[in-house]
Amino acid sequence: MNKFRTRLAVLFIVLIGCSVLCAGLFVAVMLERSHLAALQESMKREIQIILATVPDSVNQFKSRNGAFFAEQAVYLKQSAGARVTYIAADGTVFGDSDLDPRGMDNHADRQEVREAMESGTGYSKRHSDSTGGNMLYVAMAVRDGSDVVGYLRLSMGLGEIEKTIRHLWLGLLGGLLVVFCIAGLISFRVAHQLTRPIDKITRVARQITKMNYKSRVYLRNRDEIGQLGQAINTMADSLQQQMHRILENESRLSGVLDNMVSGVVMIDGDERIVLMNRSAEDILGYDSADSIGKRYDGAKQPYELIQLIKHCIESGERIRDEINLYFPDERIVEVNLVPMKAVEDEWLGLVIVLHDITAIRRLEKMRSEFVANVSHELKTPVAAVKGFAETLLAGAMNDPEIAKSFLQIIYDESERLNRLIGDILELSKVESKRVPLQFSPVHLSSFVGKTLDMMRSAASKKEIGLEMQVDPELYIEADEDRLRQIFINLLSNGINYTPEGGKVKVQVEEVAVEGEIEKIRIAISDTGIGIPKKDLPRIFERFYRVDKARSRSSGGTGLGLSIVKHLVELHKGTIRVESDIGLGSTFILELPVIQS
Ligand code: ADP
Repeated sequence: MNKFRTRLAVLFIVLIGCSVLCAGLFVAVMLERSHLAALQESMKREIQIILATVPDSVNQFKSRNGAFFAEQAVYLKQSAGARVTYIAADGTVFGDSDLDPRGMDNHADRQEVREAMESGTGYSKRHSDSTGGNMLYVAMAVRDGSDVVGYLRLSMGLGEIEKTIRHLWLGLLGGLLVVFCIAGLISFRVAHQLTRPIDKITRVARQITKMNYKSRVYLRNRDEIGQLGQAINTMADSLQQQMHRILENESRLSGVLDNMVSGVVMIDGDERIVLMNRSAEDILGYDSADSIGKRYDGAKQPYELIQLIKHCIESGERIRDEINLYFPDERIVEVNLVPMKAVEDEWLGLVIVLHDITAIRRLEKMRSEFVANVSHELKTPVAAVKGFAETLLAGAMNDPEIAKSFLQIIYDESERLNRLIGDILELSKVESKRVPLQFSPVHLSSFVGKTLDMMRSAASKKEIGLEMQVDPELYIEADEDRLRQIFINLLSNGINYTPEGGKVKVQVEEVAVEGEIEKIRIAISDTGIGIPKKDLPRIFERFYRVDKARSRSSGGTGLGLSIVKHLVELHKGTIRVESDIGLGSTFILELPVIQS
């Protein structure tokens, strides 16, 4: 911008300088000319006066009276201040105020004389050898009627005039210099004023290129520059708005991407990873910062995924597949690869969407296992009923002793079948949460007392003592029927897996967190056979039994504890077990006092 300003200023100076110079030259030349013209005019008038005042000038000329003219010339020079020369018609000088005419050559060829010969008056300006300076000569013809009898010439040195002109030139040059300086200053000021708004606009434009869209041009100009500034401001406004919209969209998009359950990975046309959301990081087990900008077949990518990507790039088709990942956890992942193409099949990259379907697959596996287990469990009693019924039909019926014992077995097995079906239905009901819980306050000591009473006959058969230790002030908000189901299941297990003469005990206490009673801890312990350490994590699984034979003989279905676990979870509680082989087991439940 400074360059432009300097150029503009120089242009102004040159323009002003040239016009001042031209004007000066014109004035000087005009002045010189008018000076000369005035001098010529006055010399001409002087000649006329001399001719008019010299007595009998025509005859004097005719007679070439040298002595007369020499005296006259000297006299005239004193009064007129100019050199006076008398020239005969043929050009011979016969009188001169400054020189001896005898030593002077013929003047007929002098320009002023020639002009006077033709038109009556002649002028000439030239260097004079006799005086050594520039001289102005004016000659006038002296006539007798129409005949020229001689010429009277006046000449004056131009030294004075030339000096004046020289002073004029010097003054002019000095003035010019001053004008130049002033013009320079003004030019710079004007150029500065002209370029300042452009400077401002340039600065703002630079700010905008540096993405500072808040920068604006503040100009008072109402001219084209002002309009340009206005246009720049409008452009900045719209850029700011667009940037705001872009950033908003970007944050929305990244918000969606980051909160998506599915993993999203994007690979660009150069086969580099350009985007990876949080779920993809979780599924693949590494930070997006480590892989963004790197090639998709970098070291960390799972081999199966790399193969799928390669295949998708080569074929340019959508691919859906399931892969197993072993790091960071064992997972089954559904992979969808979608190639991105612009017009004319230009390859832009691909989007990979990852779904963790481990839980779905595990559930499916559990379902099919459950169906297999149920069928297996149902088959055993059905086979027993069928077998004994067949034996009866085949003739055993005739022996009343055998028939009775067989029928007893058939009854027991159908009873077991009934229980099994009842438990399966119960479990599916609890699992599907079809029946909502009916919460109400339960007074724990009376509730436990009543439940123990229900178990007493079964316990007394094995001479097992039932004990309870419950604070009479404790209450809990629970579904009483479901809570009873939990207690009955755990108590009957305790009785079942405790040898005769043992003890089953219920202990209820409060758990306070920071002085507030928040939970109730219920411990149901027995002095029974205990559960081996290796089976502890699995006993809450459906159909899991530590000792199948023993469980079956005690009428167990293997579903009791899984029903208990589900019911506890419906109460937002937890259950765990501690056990020592041969010493007994303790099931510990923790239930919230209030259901939110
Ligand atoms: P079951 O109907 O066979 O009792 P459960 O689901 O109630 O099924 O229990 C699962 C298994 O856990 C039982 O088969 C048994 O081996 C073991 N078990 C449960 N409670 C006790 C206990 N109090 N003492 C010892 N073993 C137990």
